[in-house]
Amino acid sequence: MRIRLENLTKRYQEVTAVDHLNLEIEDGDLVCLLGPSGCGKSTTLSIIAGLEQATEGAIYFDEENVGGLEAEERDIGMVFQDYALYPHMTVQENMAFPLKMQGWKKKDRIEKVKEAAKMLQIEEYLKRKPGKLSGGQQQRVAIARAIVKNPKILLLDEPLSNLDARLRIELRDEIRRVQKQLGITTIFVTHDQEEALSISDKILLMEKGKISQYSSPKEMYMEP
Ligand code: ADP
Ligand code: ADP
Repeated sequence: MRIRLENLTKRYQEVTAVDHLNLEIEDGDLVCLLGPSGCGKSTTLSIIAGLEQATEGAIYFDEENVGGLEAEERDIGMVFQDYALYPHMTVQENMAFPLKMQGWKKKDRIEKVKEAAKMLQIEEYLKRKPGKLSGGQQQRVAIARAIVKNPKILLLDEPLSNLDARLRIELRDEIRRVQKQLGITTIFVTHDQEEALSISDKILLMEKGKISQYSSPKEMYMEP
């Protein structure tokens, strides 16, 4: 699905977190939002997700203006830095939850959960609680939960920031593989330049709520 932002703006009292952003993301692309802390990356992602309301501007998924839709009504999966798994549920219950909310039958839920677990290589943890898993394993579960209902858009907010260097690279490659396999339009928020360069089709460099560059990693000019 294509994503288009038109004059997207978010103000908090004095602060303009997102400042008249105009952007188009092609179907199937992985775009990194890159920039220093406080430049508006998370706010942009939250507005696209429907978790926050824009002050001004519009968001389109393909031709549809999604401004009036609640987060649950948008066709997205989301992954957070802190995994945000339900601690009292097993891995399979966590993964089945979005399907349950949408009224999928148990038999179909089991099929889908198995398929997503296989893709993220977490089949052996299905009966465990998240607290028994390592950070890397938990993030695999969170990714599997995010894609289980076949959303058209995947949003990741600093998904690797809590992991050590080795796992960051492992999960980064894993996310890219899954993303390509599904052909899912993806926005990946990071403050890590190397991460953005290695994973993305395009990088959106942000500064104080505005776009300072939008180009492929090859064409990107970075300050030394
Ligand atoms: P980033 O994700 O790039 O670190 P954010 O989108 O979190 O940046 O924040 C952008 C700006 O908006 C910052 O100046 C931040 O302090 C401000 N901001 C974010 N959320 C709120 C909020 N709920 N209330 C007030 N200011 C906020
Ligand atoms: P419940 O009886 O409340 O559905 P279960 O623990 O049996 O509780 O299952 C929790 C969720 O996990 C179910 O909603 C189901 O969709 C999914 N599930 C159950 N069994 C499996 C399985 N063998 N493999 C994958 N997913 C499963």
